[in-house]
Amino acid sequence: MDPVLIVGAGATGLTLAVDLARRGMPFRLVEARTEPFPGARGKGVQPRTQEVFEDLGVLDALLAHGGQYPLIRAYRGREVLGDQRIDELREPTEQVPYPNILMSPQWRTEQLLRDRLAELGGRVEFGTPLTGFTQDAEGVTATVGGRSMRAAYLIGADGGRSFVRKTLGVDFLGETLETQRMLVGDVRLTGLDREFWHAWPGESGALALCPLPGTDTFQLYAPPPADGAELPTLAELQDLVTATTGREELRLTELVWLSLYRANVRMVDRYRVGRVFLAGDAAHVHSPAGGQGLNTGVQDAYNLGWKLAAGTEELLDSYERERLPVAAAVLGLSSRLLQRDATEGLRRGRETHQLDISYRGGPLAPAGVETASGLAAGDRAPDARLAGGGRLFELFQGPHQTRLIFGGSRPGTDSPGERSFVITEESVRAVYGVPVGSTVLVRPDGYLGAIEVPALTAAR
Ligand SMILES: Cc1cc2nc3c(=O)[nH]c(=O)nc-3n(C[C@H](O)[C@H](O)[C@H](O)COP(=O)(O)OP(=O)(O)OC[C@H]3O[C@@H](n4cnc5c(N)ncnc54)[C@H](O)[C@@H]3O)c2cc1C
Repeated sequence: MDPVLIVGAGATGLTLAVDLARRGMPFRLVEARTEPFPGARGKGVQPRTQEVFEDLGVLDALLAHGGQYPLIRAYRGREVLGDQRIDELREPTEQVPYPNILMSPQWRTEQLLRDRLAELGGRVEFGTPLTGFTQDAEGVTATVGGRSMRAAYLIGADGGRSFVRKTLGVDFLGETLETQRMLVGDVRLTGLDREFWHAWPGESGALALCPLPGTDTFQLYAPPPADGAELPTLAELQDLVTATTGREELRLTELVWLSLYRANVRMVDRYRVGRVFLAGDAAHVHSPAGGQGLNTGVQDAYNLGWKLAAGTEELLDSYERERLPVAAAVLGLSSRLLQRDATEGLRRGRETHQLDISYRGGPLAPAGVETASGLAAGDRAPDARLAGGGRLFELFQGPHQTRLIFGGSRPGTDSPGERSFVITEESVRAVYGVPVGSTVLVRPDGYLGAIEVPALTAAR
């Protein structure tokens, strides 16, 4: 089989490559840059993404390097105005093992994905841009790094300015919010503690310095320069910091990376054109409020990987039908949060955790059964404790789909790509809210497929 060609080795492309590598699918992951992107940009890894990363074998390393969000401490000059937690800290439960947002600079998250990819025998081909492609009924002919190749499918995970999207002629509908501009960068500094995310609100935008866990850097947000002006130098940023904070002792020692961010709120109306698919920022961009972008891209990839491996038209078509509504909801959410932030300050909750994303009503979710605990096909399959200390998520881990048999006997042999388990724990059955004799199919990406109960009257 020709390989899948993944274009772009950001978080989206890397996640897809890791998933395909563990499935033994042939692929190439090509990246235009000659080296990894250095910025911390998307530093919030949401609870659902942590579950995805657990399945992909990346979470332990991410937890070892990442950390909790610190309190935000607001100042006027040297005066402390107050402290605020961006999101309340929650205790893990049996059903939600990772309830809190994890902070990890995006360059590190990507590095850990590349490490995992290497363990699985894959690699990023840096300095290898896609410069053209055409498709026919059997595959895609693409030019990468100046050479022609044949691919079974092409995945445009090539970011907001996506060459793949533009070449397809797919519109990127929405708006650029010229008023929403800010400087974003990573700095090294002395004279400021790493206990707090320090913030100085101001009329033309906040100055903020957030310590990045597992590093000696801070992420800097600052008001934008005047229209048309160059990016500030380290010395100019120092002047801004001193004037805003009144702290002579706060010295910026190195500018690791800096860029001018402009908010775009845009999305495609198609995720698939024939054998070409769009994923991540190539398909949707929005304000960073709520920390959704990287997470949504990771989950696009996670939704697509097993469908590419199966290769059926029904599954490949379901990618757009499942993920496009999610992107639309994320655009709405991040815009609402951006407006709320201006009046109420940063405050996040369950709505940003992505645990409640559901594909109910979608093409792979047979309608009908809602269990006594309110679950239906398309919902995230919750975790639960098994007797002996194991967890349901451990049964799900891997590229297979999982059949949970609540009482009854296992089939002699599993169908290809499926693993069956007899669940005898009453506590697990209660989480799923199904009567004895039920069977629940959990898709490879951890969402509920069919729920079969012995008699529909037993379910609500
Ligand atoms: C200030 C800021 C804060 C943010 N905070 C968060 C947050 O807290 N949480 C969150 O989830 N998200 C956040 N985001 C968003 C997040 O950074 C993006 O959503 C994420 O980078 C998207 O990943 P991606 O892999 O889809 O695209 P990208 O990261 O843009 O990667 C695309 C890759 O494709 C490559 N490429 C482009 N064209 C070609 C070509 N022709 N051939 C080969 N390769 C090509 C590019 O070089 C790039 O490496 C933030 C963004 C910003 C700017």
